[in-house]
Amino acid sequence: MLDLKLEYDYMKKDIDAAIATCLAHQKWIFGPEVKTLEETIAKYLGTKHCIGASSGTEALVLSLRALAIKLKGKEYFDKQDEIITTPFTFTATGDAILRSGATPVFVDIDPVTYNLDVRKTAAYCAAHGSRVVGMIPVHLYGQACDMDEIAKLSQQYGIFVVEDIAQAFGGSWKNRKLGSLGITGCFSFFPSKNLGGFGDGGMISTNDDGIADLIRMLLKHGGKDKYNVDHIGYNARLDTLQAAVVLAKFKYIDEFNTNRNTVAKQYADQLKDTQGIGIPSIHEHAQHVFHQYTLRIAQGKRDALQKHLKENGIDTMVYYPVPLHKMKVFETSHKSFGDLKEAERAVTEVLSLPIEPLQGTETTAYVADAISSFLSV
Ligand SMILES: *Cc1c(COP(=O)(O)O)cnc(C)c1O
Repeated sequence: MLDLKLEYDYMKKDIDAAIATCLAHQKWIFGPEVKTLEETIAKYLGTKHCIGASSGTEALVLSLRALAIKLKGKEYFDKQDEIITTPFTFTATGDAILRSGATPVFVDIDPVTYNLDVRKTAAYCAAHGSRVVGMIPVHLYGQACDMDEIAKLSQQYGIFVVEDIAQAFGGSWKNRKLGSLGITGCFSFFPSKNLGGFGDGGMISTNDDGIADLIRMLLKHGGKDKYNVDHIGYNARLDTLQAAVVLAKFKYIDEFNTNRNTVAKQYADQLKDTQGIGIPSIHEHAQHVFHQYTLRIAQGKRDALQKHLKENGIDTMVYYPVPLHKMKVFETSHKSFGDLKEAERAVTEVLSLPIEPLQGTETTAYVADAISSFLSV
């Protein structure tokens, strides 16, 4: 869906120079670009620490493992320890909970924002708060969760908040950058994300010195000293080369997120009166970065529309076709709160349109026209 070649051409000079610098210094592991990127993003977010990791998935696992060590004094959480998240996300969010030893509890989504329903989350905490150790709000499609309500629950029940910001780099809640609101924030530099590298990469932000120390140990085999380790660790460092590419692209992130909003605005203007679809709704306190522009198409027309667009040369995607609680990996390892019917409805109705920072107005108009002409017949 995304024309990464177009983006590369746009910033070729910066990226080529960054790679050439790496070729010259040959410091492939923990090279200077890793530290510079960590400091640059920490400053951007307003957090004390940022720590490069090998992917967004590992960023989540490292966060949860560090929290288990800090809170429980143990390497892993126990099965009785519950972590609340949404069933309408990428597998990695739930998988990271399993890998930390805890049990994922899936709470239904708000049908308007597709993010965790905070009222249902509060209801779960009221009933079972003593079992809950934390929650992972996912800022889906680039839009912030209600971080005020989430902070309230965190305080009331003494539970941690790990933000999954894989889809929302640069987004904010009440003008506070996502990644500065939880105990940690987990970013992905997967190539298709708003700030993507040329391969896998990720980052963890935190204001907590102890958690930062633990994460730095865990991502290089579990010790301060690689040859005498304290914890069950990983090899989950951010590559120097990926850091260099991400750093070069970082210069453009605000401009690109603004462009994404411009494309989104055009889609909204053109599609707002089209019958049979729901356009994304922007929460008044969220600064959306439109990782995806996702429509809701009711009455079983979604798949036919997707086919029609394909026939007109337009690639669209369904994020996500299967909710986590229906996946085999979570079959016997999760808990659900209630029937999760909004998540189950969303998987049958959502459709993400092409949205690209360099997408021209004609392309956006062409896509919007193809949608309205199909739905008006
Ligand atoms: C992409 C993504 C991840 C995982 O990031 P990777 O870098 O691919 O490991 C986690 N959560 C969400 C919501 C994502 O979109």
